[in-house]
Amino acid sequence: MTDLLEKPATVSVLVPVAVERPYTYAVPAGMTLAPGDVVVVPLGPRSVLAVVWDGAPDSVPAKKLRSVEDKLDGHIGEEMRRFVDWLADYTLSHRGTVLRMVLRVPDAFGPEKPVMAVRLAGAAPERMTAARTRVLEIAADGLAWNKGALAQAAGVGASVVEGLVDAGTLERVALPPAPVVGTPDPDFAPPVLSDGQADAAARLRDAVAADAFAVALVEGVTGAGKTEVYFEAVAEALRRGRQVLVLVPEISLTTQFLDRFEARFGTRPAEWHSGMTPRLRERTWRGVANGQVRAVVGARSALFLPFAEPGLIVVDEEHDPAYKQEEGVIYSARDMAVVRGMIGGFPVILSSATPSIETRANAERGRYIHVKLPDRFGASLPDIKAIDMRADGAPSGRFLSPVLVDAIKETIAGGEQALLFLNRRGYAPLTLCRKCGFRFECPNCSAWLVDHRFRRVLSCHHCGHSIARPERCPNCDAEDSLVACGPGIERIAEEAADLFPDIRILMLSSDLVQSISELRMRFSMIERGEVDLIIGTQLVAKGHNFPHLALVGVIDADIGLATADPRAAERTFQLLQQVTGRAGRQKDGGRGLIQTFDPDHPVMQAIISGDREAFYAREMEQRERSGLPPFGRLAAIVVSGRTHAEASGYARALARAVPRADNAHGSEYRGADAVRVLGPAEAPLAVVRGRHRFRLLVKAPRGFDLQGWLRRWLARAPTAKGGLRVSIDVDPVSF
Ligand code: ADP
Ligand code: ZN
Repeated sequence: MTDLLEKPATVSVLVPVAVERPYTYAVPAGMTLAPGDVVVVPLGPRSVLAVVWDGAPDSVPAKKLRSVEDKLDGHIGEEMRRFVDWLADYTLSHRGTVLRMVLRVPDAFGPEKPVMAVRLAGAAPERMTAARTRVLEIAADGLAWNKGALAQAAGVGASVVEGLVDAGTLERVALPPAPVVGTPDPDFAPPVLSDGQADAAARLRDAVAADAFAVALVEGVTGAGKTEVYFEAVAEALRRGRQVLVLVPEISLTTQFLDRFEARFGTRPAEWHSGMTPRLRERTWRGVANGQVRAVVGARSALFLPFAEPGLIVVDEEHDPAYKQEEGVIYSARDMAVVRGMIGGFPVILSSATPSIETRANAERGRYIHVKLPDRFGASLPDIKAIDMRADGAPSGRFLSPVLVDAIKETIAGGEQALLFLNRRGYAPLTLCRKCGFRFECPNCSAWLVDHRFRRVLSCHHCGHSIARPERCPNCDAEDSLVACGPGIERIAEEAADLFPDIRILMLSSDLVQSISELRMRFSMIERGEVDLIIGTQLVAKGHNFPHLALVGVIDADIGLATADPRAAERTFQLLQQVTGRAGRQKDGGRGLIQTFDPDHPVMQAIISGDREAFYAREMEQRERSGLPPFGRLAAIVVSGRTHAEASGYARALARAVPRADNAHGSEYRGADAVRVLGPAEAPLAVVRGRHRFRLLVKAPRGFDLQGWLRRWLARAPTAKGGLRVSIDVDPVSF
């Protein structure tokens, strides 16, 4: 036989596009490849980064076989590959799509590019000038200089330095770039812990020292010192030579976190979020992969970093809905952090003052280590009272009740800060015409246009559609007939400015800041006490530590309860507990005042009395009665189409394809008769960005193979063609 007839060696390669199975590629002569190797392969007209996957390659006719183009430095470890497989399986996503989340850094695999510098090398040039003399005086230190920096230090143009290089007086040198971050020292500044904290820390340290998968819930009131406590577990993991990942729900929360980490460990951790420059992303990614970066704090996408030696993941504020990714691959970063720990055989710590019902249930069932911190560190919990707006409401056309107004006055007069919380951006959620009743609606979504007076537009919060606020009603042409209905934070700020003309007010919501750095600047202004009254959305509700804040007023505490979402009570409880928990963190005497039209509601009662156990017990019982998670399993299928008919037609066809218990084959789907499919019904937001949406909800018993059932169902359904899209949300968090 000749070489020509011999079949080429082939390999399985997973490409980062919407494919389920790895493709088969030929291995060029002289190249050896193993699973996990990062390669460049041709894909259609392009070349893409991809990963050699496990398993025998499919056989492909030699004519169709294309060849691996290049093998790069990087490697995606076994654990990470199993994580990709697991996540794809669980979320019913394509494996290639999940892999794309790992390969988000285009050039990460090349060797680290050196930094070019110059230093003194030879004799002075024949032709000397004053500028050249200045440069050489500085370069006389013999150190390597960045070219620009040297020119600047000498006060000359870059061309002068270039000229000296050409003359051979300066030489170019390649230097390894400085590391992205320093190496944290686990024993840099250990805290003095209270007895309760020390016990909690010891239990977490033990979990890390056991070097095995375990989940621990750290549950403690706001200001209990949870961060201080889980830092001890972080220290233990670092001591054992392991890398640590801390997930935070909100990127604005990281500034304080970075400072605290540095105070404890002597250096900042690396950051990972969408606001980073490509260069920093690339360098951080590589540092994590080669083990140079020992600790990372990041948003949910940090879960996909290829840690070389992971030993601990902490999920801070684990209850936060921001951990759920709602687009593309729909997953919960909190749940997947647990999976990552399971696959890697290391512990995961979930931390919260208001744990999710799911996590709480796992702790109660003994599946998670439950570490409790019942008291605040060095301060008492704020005193919380409801203001019954039916009896003590605001004057007509106003939103701040007299009791709240007095409390703000008192607080600020006492040199402390107050915060007003309203979970609504803009000036008013609805604008209507008093003459004809016309309402401003979004043409693309089933939603009102929100009045943003600061930016002078009416705008849709779902698709961004904006129009200038008109002078006349577009329907009846009446003048001065348009009225704003209901408050947003801008309207509260207007009222506050009117009531307290001499105080410093700061509004804070996502649409009012341009960048993360601007947001961080605002937070430090608050920390330094440079504002008196903060008016904000949920952006200010989370984990922040505002040392001067003594009073928190909640404007419309009932907003979140008026929905059909079964998690409405849990959400509202968490949000109110978190936001009132900002008050009095460093000093006794913090206060919370909650404006509500329903002070007897169990959520309000739980917040006022502080009886969290009663709330959790009641919520748990209701979930159990209705078979909702964690007592049952849920999936939501959302069908969207370009027209109402297209979407509803396909949603109905899907419903008809539901496998009935009587046509389940064998025993594989035992229990399938207990699955219930609800709908299709219009999704809560029936139209978004011009797409019509219908939803089917699947309810199944706990322990049921929901994914297997969903796969079988979808395989029976007609193909979604044309403009149809189907998205599958396993364990939906809001519906
Ligand atoms: P949590 O995360 O539970 O809301 P933090 O960890 O932010 O609480 O702690 C609240 C405040 O108390 C912070 O200012 C923190 O620095 C301080 N604190 C907590 N524990 C200690 C300790 N053992 N020694 C000194 N300060 C502490
Ligand atoms: Zn819209």
